[in-house]
Formats: sequence, structure tokens, C-alpha cells
Amino acid sequence: MVTDLPPPFATVVFDCDSTLSSIEGICELAGARHAAELGTLTTMVMNGGAPLEEVYGRRLEIVRPTRSDVQRVGERYIETLLPNVEELVGALRFLGKRVVIVSGGLLPPVTRLATHLGIEEVYAVGIHFHRDGSYAGFEETSPLARAGGKPEILRTLSDPADPTRAGAIVLVGDGTTDLEAAPFVARFVAFGGIERREAVFKKARVTCEVADFRALVPHLFSQREIETLRSRPEHRRLLE
Ligand SMILES: [Mg+2]
Repeated sequence: MVTDLPPPFATVVFDCDSTLSSIEGICELAGARHAAELGTLTTMVMNGGAPLEEVYGRRLEIVRPTRSDVQRVGERYIETLLPNVEELVGALRFLGKRVVIVSGGLLPPVTRLATHLGIEEVYAVGIHFHRDGSYAGFEETSPLARAGGKPEILRTLSDPADPTRAGAIVLVGDGTTDLEAAPFVARFVAFGGIERREAVFKKARVTCEVADFRALVPHLFSQREIETLRSRPEHRRLLE
């Protein structure tokens, strides 16, 4: 059983697809043409039915997204943000937390979303394009394109010797790749607001099934932090 420590946390890590945003970027890229085929592959991975590395490149090879296809996903991430994501991230930043996105999605759109939210630290999978904008492959060496990759990144996020990288980490995510990283964080919150994945929920100590980031407040903040937020009108709505 994975241990679970209560707040406060120094670092808050979010998954992107089906967590911050209600979409799966790869399904968005697939569009109607490849939707069924890709949907099946993605569901297999997210529910633990197939290792990510077997599927990651195959999905991109099927879709072969252009630069503008990929840019569009960034805009879609913003359009499909869950309620109160911006407010929650604002409160975390106000309290001086380090906020990070660790995603198996593609780096350009996840960075676009992060910039929108004022999040500076992003880990995702790079993608390459030919000069005309056509698909030229992805960052095959990225840990995030294979099973066991998220734990690898999460481990590098903490460093007891570095005060800016020390302190407890909480991770919020919906997939089995997030669950894999649970042993390396103080708390893992299984997020089921969009997709409640049985394989993840079965093993998680802390779960949230509400598609509104206000529901994460009790899992991420200490009572004292909540009181601090309550004293600020701009953050009070998050606590309602
Ligand atoms: Mg996800």
C-alpha cells in the first residue's frame, strides 16, 4: 500500500489530459478519421491493459499530426479546462507553491496550456516537424513516452540538498502512469472527474470524482492554508 501524507505540500504536480483539461490530446489529434482506433489504444493504456511504449509511437504514426494540428490541441486544452483550474493554480501560486505539469502529452500544446495558467515547469514529450510543418517523429528518448516514465520525472523533482526542490510533493492525475508515480510522492490524488479509472481508484488512498477543481482544496491545502485563502477575497470563491 502506498503511503499518504497530509498537506501542506511544497510542490503540486498535475497531469494534463483528463485532469486539468477534459480532453485527451491524442484523441483530439485523431479527429473523426482515426477516433475509434486511437480511442481503443488510449483506453488500453490508461486502464493498464497495454504498456505505453508499445502504443505511443503507433498512435502518432497513425495520425501523423502537422504543426498546426498540434498547435490546435493547445487551444483545445485551454477551451476544455475544468472549472476552477485557473483559480486553484492562482491560489497555489499565491501560497508560494511550486506548480508543475508532468504529462505524457505533447510538449507544445501542454506548454501552451501551462503558459495560460502561469505554470513555468512542464515535462511532456517533444515532437518534430519537417520544414513544411508535416510530422517528422517524436522524442523517442522521453521517459514520458514509456511506462515507468512518470516516476522517473517525479524522482527528479525533489532534491533534499536543494531548498527550492525540497519538500513534500502531491500529484494529481487520472491514469495508471500517474498511479505508478504514487510511491515517489507524499500524496497521490486519483482524479476521476472526467474518467474514473477502476485500476487507478482501486489502489489510490485519496480520490476525487468531482469535475471541479474546488473539490481538490481539502486534498491539497492544510487547514492553515485554507484560512489564509479565506482571508483573501480573490481566493474565497475557491472555498465555497
Ligand atoms: Mg491523464
